[in-house]
Amino acid sequence: MVTKEDVMSALQKVVDPELDMDIVTLGMVRGVSVEGGNVSVDIALTSESCPLAGRIKDEVESALSSLDGVSSVAVEAVVMNDEERSALIEKLKEKRKTLPMPGKLPKQGIKRILAVLSGKGGVGKSSVTAMIAVGMQRRGLKVGILDADITGPSIPKIFGVNEMPFVLEGKIIPATSSKGIKIISMNLLLGKEETPVIWRGPLVSTAIKQFYTDVDWSELDYLLVDLPPGTSDAQLTVLQLLPVDGIVVVTSPQELAGIIVAKAVQMSRMLAVPIVGVLENMSYVQCPKCGEIIRLFGDSRGKLMAEQINTQFLGSLPIDPALSAACDHGKIEEYSNKAFEEVVEKLVS
Ligand code: ADP
Repeated sequence: MVTKEDVMSALQKVVDPELDMDIVTLGMVRGVSVEGGNVSVDIALTSESCPLAGRIKDEVESALSSLDGVSSVAVEAVVMNDEERSALIEKLKEKRKTLPMPGKLPKQGIKRILAVLSGKGGVGKSSVTAMIAVGMQRRGLKVGILDADITGPSIPKIFGVNEMPFVLEGKIIPATSSKGIKIISMNLLLGKEETPVIWRGPLVSTAIKQFYTDVDWSELDYLLVDLPPGTSDAQLTVLQLLPVDGIVVVTSPQELAGIIVAKAVQMSRMLAVPIVGVLENMSYVQCPKCGEIIRLFGDSRGKLMAEQINTQFLGSLPIDPALSAACDHGKIEEYSNKAFEEVVEKLVS
């Protein structure tokens, strides 16, 4: 006769592929009933639209059907209540504490990897990443950009690149800008810029890892990683995963730069990756007629921040309509700006 214990131990072998833990430990088995050889289970899923629902259900069915004495299996998928969800989150937190720091991936032929970080979206992180790449390329350096901003990938648009990467001998050949900057971005794989991407955390890490390991970057002097905006777990995961040499922090005067920089410092300490510079974007406007500089948001705070954390201030960049036009038209490689050239010079030196 099959018992409830038999059923539970069979269910312990069913693993949620995304959370990488068995469904019993995750508290997803809400109820089990055994009547003779008839077994029925209620599996509580994290959401109604859980993309793995079908797979988990199939695995539960097959795990239970193979038990001796089982004649029928009924699996009902239900949605977790708040209490179950909180318990699951606690389990995941516990698990994370016991995990070793993920091993960093090998460096391959890349000399330096710099990650570009900002506290929130819209401060110009992607434009700045693109401009740094362009400045480096103009200095004769070989540059690549890994667009890790999976949910808002804008790098291909800024470079006017839309060629689909292809696979050759097991490696993804990245797209190349007109001046030879190698680019990989989710946008290139999706084909359409407008396609919204709704990613679940662990899949984001997997995609970024693949962008790094499966792409043929060949020899590069610099790989720039355009991180998703923010200073939370998503950015930390990327920084943990890739063998990043340094972090460049982009702020804008409207941002609470102090908070962002403090968070970046915390990350940098946790990961033992230095902050190589702070850059303030959209700092001022310069009158095109008389050249007067107008600081719309008051004095620059980026410099003070950089000093406080003992890193170099890479400079302040103006709000420049020519830059946004260049980004909008995919012509960043034709744009140049003195303030920006100085930033790149500092960074490279
Ligand atoms: P983020 O990556 O931080 O979300 P983006 O680089 O996508 O920000 O920039 C947001 C918008 O602001 C874009 O339209 C971009 O062209 C524009 N932008 C960024 N920096 C500047 C600047 N210094 N002057 C004018 N426009 C800018």
